[in-house]
Amino acid sequence: MIVDYHMHLRNGRGEIAHDTWAVEPFVEIARQEGVDEIGFTEHAYYFEQTRALWTHPYQTERCVYDLEPYVEAVLQARERGLPVKLGLEVDYVQGREHEMHSLLEPYPWDYLLGSVHFIDGLGVDGEPRLLEALGVDEGWRRYFETLAAAAQSRLFDSLSHPDLVKIFGVLAASFDYNPVAEAIAESGVAVEVSTAGLRKPVGELYPHPDFLAACRERNVPVTLGSDAHKPVLVGREFDRARDLLRSVGYETITLFDGRRGRQEQLG
Ligand SMILES: [Zn+2]
Ligand SMILES: [Zn+2]
Repeated sequence: MIVDYHMHLRNGRGEIAHDTWAVEPFVEIARQEGVDEIGFTEHAYYFEQTRALWTHPYQTERCVYDLEPYVEAVLQARERGLPVKLGLEVDYVQGREHEMHSLLEPYPWDYLLGSVHFIDGLGVDGEPRLLEALGVDEGWRRYFETLAAAAQSRLFDSLSHPDLVKIFGVLAASFDYNPVAEAIAESGVAVEVSTAGLRKPVGELYPHPDFLAACRERNVPVTLGSDAHKPVLVGREFDRARDLLRSVGYETITLFDGRRGRQEQLG
């Protein structure tokens, strides 16, 4: 079994298209790539229903779409028999856990991805840049401290691109992944192996093999994602993701249904 559990519902030009017919091209590419099931995970900050959570202009400027048509688009595709799941990629905001829970709770998600894109107004992959403001070692420390808090919030089912802080190829001199892996293991949340990093300056899969091995040692479950922002990227370079998973000993991946995970043999 192979799934792609991280993608954004867009048309072929990469523009927002929260319409059930926009689902078809993603399913088509998934079939071509040998992906059995896909899950849509639009950014939560695009939806006006989440506006109360955001302070960064990158998020507040985008917060203009209604969440209902997005949810309906995916549910209708599923009713037509397409192998799709309903998810959302949610930026973790430390200290706003209760608000996040009540805003997300009313919808029939199959799973929620937790992401750390911003920390105290600084951008991990956006401006103003975290590593420039804090320095590399402190920036890395803060990133993984926030990721651990995201895991322990228990708001999410999987942590997307879990070492996103390396996106620009600026790396801490050395880093011990064991404490963050321990926090993730305690929380029960999965981690995502993402091929998106291959298309970024760092040119690597997320997460680093040492991080993934530390998760494997602690029986942390995994999901797989391309982070496609257009259909053509679905399942892209999944051979490499599979190789990475196998190299540290993973034999199963996690499938979600109504926020309940189960393990299936990695295909
Ligand atoms: Zn992301
Ligand atoms: Zn994404």
